Amino acid sequence: MKKAAIPILLMLLLLPACSGDIDKPYHVAFNESAWNTLDWADSGFNDSAEFEAEVYGYIEAISDYCDRPDWYKAYSEKHGDDYELVINYIWVSGRSHVEHGYESHKYLVPNVYLKKDHLENGLAPIAHETTHILFPHYSALSYREGLASYMQDKFGQNPDFRTLGINVHRFAAYYHTAPLDADMRAQYNDVIAVLGTGDAAELKCAESEMRPVYYILSHSLTAYFIDNHGIQKFMTLYESDDPISDFDGLYGFSFNDARAGWLSFLESDAEPLSTREYIAYREELDGILAQ
Ligand SMILES: [Zn+2]
Repeated sequence: MKKAAIPILLMLLLLPACSGDIDKPYHVAFNESAWNTLDWADSGFNDSAEFEAEVYGYIEAISDYCDRPDWYKAYSEKHGDDYELVINYIWVSGRSHVEHGYESHKYLVPNVYLKKDHLENGLAPIAHETTHILFPHYSALSYREGLASYMQDKFGQNPDFRTLGINVHRFAAYYHTAPLDADMRAQYNDVIAVLGTGDAAELKCAESEMRPVYYILSHSLTAYFIDNHGIQKFMTLYESDDPISDFDGLYGFSFNDARAGWLSFLESDAEPLSTREYIAYREELDGILAQ
């Protein structure tokens, strides 16, 4: 009996050190041979183990911050108790996305596609796309993209290519005040009108030429809610069936008042990018991707 006590004690001491990914109810995978097809010199990763460790770190940090440690259960509820949750990271030429894009919640196939060009230049939205895997069910598309962009900003080891580390509210304020032509200004107003509603028109905005603006405004609105009222309330809103009618009960004021508060914050407290700064951002992005 006494002899056995030492190995057991040793095992207990060693357990935290090897809790790595052995006991996790999910795994991260990618095609090792595909790794060698990319030029990783400017990616920020020295080897595939670093990439893997970064992804596991995102999953822990983001699910922790959002207080959703059981996020993975959505997958076994969908596919059955024997389902082995393996999140696959795949490099592609097109834009980064998760399997089935905005409809991923219908199928829950945990594949993440990362744009090669962004990956090779340290701009891949790894934390962003991973957030979509963790929280596939959303009340409004703008909150889906807003939360993912917020997490890329907060936990990403590399900047969001849409802001390159510049405060997102400065971009939102820029679009709010920039001299857009009449057609773009009308589209901008359409985007503002549907953000946070969960209306099908959100999808039209995301897939129109206003896509970059839609993503920036979604990120800005989401960051405004999280930073002013906390992540807990935001996650409840994110998981609501009706984000407009549930808003009052959750926040104590109407969504319309909240949106007006955000717009007035953009107008008076967020210093808009100047056109010169906006052009400099575009040039920096082009420069990084041209390497
Ligand atoms: Zn996204």
